[in-house]
Amino acid sequence: MGELRYRVVVGLEIHVQLCTKSKMFCGCALSFGEEANSRVCPVCLGMPGVLPVMNEQALEYAVLVALALDCKIAEFTKWDRKSYYYPDLPKNYQISQYDLPLGSGGFIEIPLEAGRTKRIGIIRAHLEEDAGKNLHTAGNFSQVDLNRAGTPLLEIVTEPDMSSAAEVRTLAVELQRMVRYLGVSEADMQKGHMRFEPNINLIITKDGVEYKTPIVEVKNLNSFRVLERSVDVEEQRQLDEFLETGEVMGMGNKTTRGWDDINQVTVLQREKEEAPDYRYFPDPDLVPVEFKCEWLEDIRSRLCELPIKRQIRFVDEYKLSDYDAGVLTAERSTAEFFERVVAAGGKPKRVCNLLTQVGLKLANEKGCSVAELDITPKDFAQVSNDVDGGILSASGANKAIELKAQDPDKPFSVIYEENNLIQKSDVGELEQIVEQVIVDNPKAVEDVTSGGKKSKKAQSFLLGQVMQKTKGQANPKVVSEILDRKLG
Ligand code: ZN
Ligand code: MN
Repeated sequence: MGELRYRVVVGLEIHVQLCTKSKMFCGCALSFGEEANSRVCPVCLGMPGVLPVMNEQALEYAVLVALALDCKIAEFTKWDRKSYYYPDLPKNYQISQYDLPLGSGGFIEIPLEAGRTKRIGIIRAHLEEDAGKNLHTAGNFSQVDLNRAGTPLLEIVTEPDMSSAAEVRTLAVELQRMVRYLGVSEADMQKGHMRFEPNINLIITKDGVEYKTPIVEVKNLNSFRVLERSVDVEEQRQLDEFLETGEVMGMGNKTTRGWDDINQVTVLQREKEEAPDYRYFPDPDLVPVEFKCEWLEDIRSRLCELPIKRQIRFVDEYKLSDYDAGVLTAERSTAEFFERVVAAGGKPKRVCNLLTQVGLKLANEKGCSVAELDITPKDFAQVSNDVDGGILSASGANKAIELKAQDPDKPFSVIYEENNLIQKSDVGELEQIVEQVIVDNPKAVEDVTSGGKKSKKAQSFLLGQVMQKTKGQANPKVVSEILDRKLG
């Protein structure tokens, strides 16, 4: 066999459930976990003769995302019927947008390692309604729950610009962060708020000739883990298949596969339907949508700084690591709270440590955001400054925040005092303790003064002894200085 190289090419289709109050074309409330078929009406049940009415909030949410994705917004768009037959779709068509999607031709920036980013093209973004759910849990028959039917979905289709499974996952996570920042979706994976369908193939170079393997679309993936894994698995499967059969991309050989999570493989489902099979045509029951300039500008004014931009700015402006900036900008409320603490006088790096080491942990335990902990930005700033001023150790500061969360009305001066959190920095007092430690540990002292290999370890042993004698309250910086001075 001659020389063979290959790379994987992936485009992604994403369905995002929008968090509107009601469904896309009727007044039923969105639901999760309600009694089956309790959130339905003649419209979403697909009864004959009903008239759907568009949910304006869904449209505004969709346009907001399309603007954040730098899409061109259509001046005129309409609703189309996409016909197919499935038990969870009683009216036998889905209302969607076919040739005039509300957004097209945009991009999303995704973070790569070491603060680099990559642009992934967005082909289109359109609105549609979700289908119901088939349940296969009741025995030797199936049931249909139509609570989900008619839920607004934003479908986003990317260019095939991703070149690894990891990049695909990164894009999905970035999109989740974006829609949450914009407040248009909870994007809760457990509730099926985001579903992914990667289109995958390989470009193989063999003996100097380039081949493309047939495109495979993997359907309906509902976690980041499975999304990433399925791309990896498909990459290997397509390589093996090419080596065995030599089949390359051609007319009509795109296929659809499903994910088998138990065996961690993709499974052939069917040859891909082409658009003519769906018999798209404009829905005669719904009026087309025209975007007036003013309306668009009003929606545009609701855009916020996007998470990736904020992450990059946190690195530049606050000199944080890319990792820390990523943690702080994962949720919009955390990022905004961080900036309020800095505005209240906290030093960015120290504030970052406090929030990531203890603030987020407490918020997580309480199931709230860090801003809802009953600890003010001023409180966090004070504690962080007390660490910088040598009054508290880093662990003492974490303890102080934990205690404040339990008892928000108690002033820090009392919390510090009651829990012996204030560091001993008094040189005279610490010197006596250091001297005692030196007398008690002649072997370690010898290791330090001889300056050999063991010197560093022995020095930190002595420091540890002082910390122990002071129950962790000595200021380690002051103790180190005394040790340095006494042992030369
Ligand atoms: Zn309804
Ligand atoms: Mn769709």
